[in-house]
Amino acid sequence: MNALLIKDLYKVYANVNSSKSNQTLEALKKISLEVKQGDFFALLGPNGAGKSTTIGIITGLINKTSGMVKVFDNDIDLEWEEARKLIGVVPQEFNFSIFETVYNIVLDQAGYYGVSRKIAKERAEKYLKLLGLWEKKDSVSRTLSGGMKRRLMIARALLHEPPLLILDEPTAGVDVELRRGMWDFLIDLNKNGTTIILTTHYLDEAELLCRNIAIINKGLIIEHSATKNLLDKMERHSYIFDLQKNMTHLQLNHKTKLNSKTNFIIKKIDPRTIEVDLLQNQNLNDLFTFFKKEDLEIRSMRNKSNRLEELFLRLVEEKSSVKS
Ligand code: ADP
Ligand code: MG
Repeated sequence: MNALLIKDLYKVYANVNSSKSNQTLEALKKISLEVKQGDFFALLGPNGAGKSTTIGIITGLINKTSGMVKVFDNDIDLEWEEARKLIGVVPQEFNFSIFETVYNIVLDQAGYYGVSRKIAKERAEKYLKLLGLWEKKDSVSRTLSGGMKRRLMIARALLHEPPLLILDEPTAGVDVELRRGMWDFLIDLNKNGTTIILTTHYLDEAELLCRNIAIINKGLIIEHSATKNLLDKMERHSYIFDLQKNMTHLQLNHKTKLNSKTNFIIKKIDPRTIEVDLLQNQNLNDLFTFFKKEDLEIRSMRNKSNRLEELFLRLVEEKSSVKS
């Protein structure tokens, strides 16, 4: 079963620039997504990509322009009462009363979800303890650190024990040392059956936590696959070759993508420079044989670093060159 199904989700913000009241912005350009029950899923993308807009629509805080969203088969347009109870959300911005105590902020959720006072108290204690906030339960939330505020929002989102937890940039503003603890907590929660969707612009966070990743950029999903597949794409080393003389005879497309053992992924950067991606099962010897056959003399070569960031840039680039 899908915990979340999104089809052709489209969002236009009106009046983006107040001085020009007729300006609009397409924040989501008909995106589709599927998240299976039990998954740990990342929606990854840079600032302004449309992550929070997507989350806002799923959780009923933002109205969509068109498209469909289902939460465990409940259409948010038709079965909102059912859908909303299945979701716990940790928004990007702190949105609790800064004058309220930690304990009351969590407990006050009970009313929205029809959780009895008795059960709410048990759960508030359980989650505040699990998140290391029990000693702070009588503190006014204003006095908490950024990391504590984030954890408070997680405890609050869990009070009705939703099967789907959605976190919008959960580690933004959280100390690097404290991230580990939050990650472990989320991993445990997921192991116990909660489907988790998080947004992040930290590639390492998505890589470490999530089984599936969708990459969003400028309102478009540019990649949607298993983390392992994405990592396999990185299991290639990119080399830059400077050539002795201009390439004239070799007809290289800007992006020659050939994926078999002997076909190399070659990209012409300029007439004297090419980039080659070598997959795990390909070796440099074969490549040099190919160069020799094509009569290409190499002047120098260098290894291009191969971080996830680069993968991201490559995907963005591929997508935009397909479009143009
Ligand atoms: P992300 O969470 O990935 O950083 P957002 O969903 O917040 O991205 O924003 C997507 C785009 O929509 C951005 O260009 C942003 O400026 C714009 N946007 C977001 N909220 C509003 C709003 N309330 N009114 C107008 N434009 C908005
Ligand atoms: Mg955001």
